[in-house]
Amino acid sequence: MSIEKAAQELHSLLDTLLNDAVDNDVTLKKFQAFELELMNASSLNNLLELLLKESLLELGWETVTLTLVDPEYEIQRHLERSGSEFSECPELNFIDTNEELENIYKQKLFPIFESYNDDAHHLLFSSETKKPDAIWLLPLSRNHNLTGSYNIGKQLGNHPQKNCATDFLQHLAAVISASLEISISRERLKTLGLMDPLTGVNNRRFFDQRLIEEVTSVIRANAEISCLFIDIDHFKKINDNYGHQIGDKVLKNVAQIIRELVRSTDVVARYGGEEFTVLLSHKGKQKASEIAERIRETIEKCIFMGSQKEKIAITTSIGINTLNIDEHEGDIDDITTLFVERADRALYHAKNNGRNRVEFYGEDLET
Ligand code: GH3
Ligand code: MG
Ligand code: MG
Repeated sequence: MSIEKAAQELHSLLDTLLNDAVDNDVTLKKFQAFELELMNASSLNNLLELLLKESLLELGWETVTLTLVDPEYEIQRHLERSGSEFSECPELNFIDTNEELENIYKQKLFPIFESYNDDAHHLLFSSETKKPDAIWLLPLSRNHNLTGSYNIGKQLGNHPQKNCATDFLQHLAAVISASLEISISRERLKTLGLMDPLTGVNNRRFFDQRLIEEVTSVIRANAEISCLFIDIDHFKKINDNYGHQIGDKVLKNVAQIIRELVRSTDVVARYGGEEFTVLLSHKGKQKASEIAERIRETIEKCIFMGSQKEKIAITTSIGINTLNIDEHEGDIDDITTLFVERADRALYHAKNNGRNRVEFYGEDLET
C-alpha cells in the first residue's frame, strides 16, 4: 500500500471516529437533558408525561410504553383520584406481580435489545396496533427487584446503534427507576396527609381543597353542584353503650357505605368526628336528594355487630345544599364557605325535625 493510500485510509478512519464521537456527544447531551427533566419532575403525572410523551419528541423514539408492577393498585388509585389523563392511557399498563418481567429479563437488570416477538413481548406492547420490529427494554428496579419496564419500540431500518446506546440506556433506566420511586413516595405522603386514617376516606383538608376546585369547575361549566352533610344520630350512645372500638368500626362501615353509594369521582370526606361530607358535582336538588335518601336508608337497614354479637342499628341525619346557577357570582372563598355552611344548616334542621331524615337548605332556614 502506498503511503498516500495508507494516509487516506487513516484520515477516513479518523473522520468516522470523529463523526461517531460527535453523534455520541449529541446523543449523550440529549439523554442528559432528558434525565435532568425526569429528576426535576414536579409530580407523578408530570413524570409520566415526560416518559410517555416528551421522550418521543426529545429523543426521537417512535413508540414508548411503560409497564409498572402495582400489586395494591396504589399507583392506579392515585392516578384515578387525581383525575390524571394517565389513569386511562393505553401506553401505561399495570401488572400485579413482576413474574412475567422476570421471565423477560432473566434475572439480569440490564437493558435488552432484540427483535420483537409477540409471544414474549405482547404484555409490554399490548396497546400498539402496529407492533415494533425491534425493541429496547429498560428494567426498572428498586433494591434489585424488578418494579417495571420502560419499553421503546422501533420499526426496521431505524435501529438504534446497539453498542453506543447501551451505556446511555442503562443510565437512563436507573434515573427512571429513581424518579418513579421518588414521585410515588411523594404522592403517598401527600395522600396520607389528605386521608382520614380510620375510615380511609379523605379528610377535611382534602375536602376544603377539592371544594374550591369542584365549585370553580361547575361555575365555569355553568352547572350545579350539591353538598351533603351527613351526621350519625346519637353516636355518643354507641360509644357509651358498646365502647370506642365498636364506635370506630361503625364509623368505618358508614364511610364505606357512603363511598359505595356515590360515583368514584365524587368527593367523600370525614369532616370531623361522626360527620361526613359528600360533593356531588353536576347534580341538582333532585339527584342529590335521591342519593342522600339512599344513603340514609341503607345505613338505617344495616345491622352492625357489637363485641358480644349484639345487633346495633344506627340512623343518620343529612343536610343538602345545592349551589344554583344564580349563586355563581362573587368571591370563590365566600361562595364555597356559604355553600357548605348552608348544607350544615340543613343538617341541623334535620336534627331538630326528629333525626333520621334528609332536609334541604331553603331560605326559611335563615331565620
Ligand atoms: P346527634 O344526634 O345530635 O349528632 O348526637 P351525637 O351523639 O351523634 O353527637 P355528639 O356531637 O354529642 O357526639 C359525637 C360523638 O362522636 C362524641 C365523640 O366521642 C364521638 N366520636 C368522634 N370521633 C370519634 C372517633 O373517631 N371514634 C369514636 N369511636 N367516636 C368518635
Ligand atoms: Mg356531629
Ligand atoms: Mg351525631
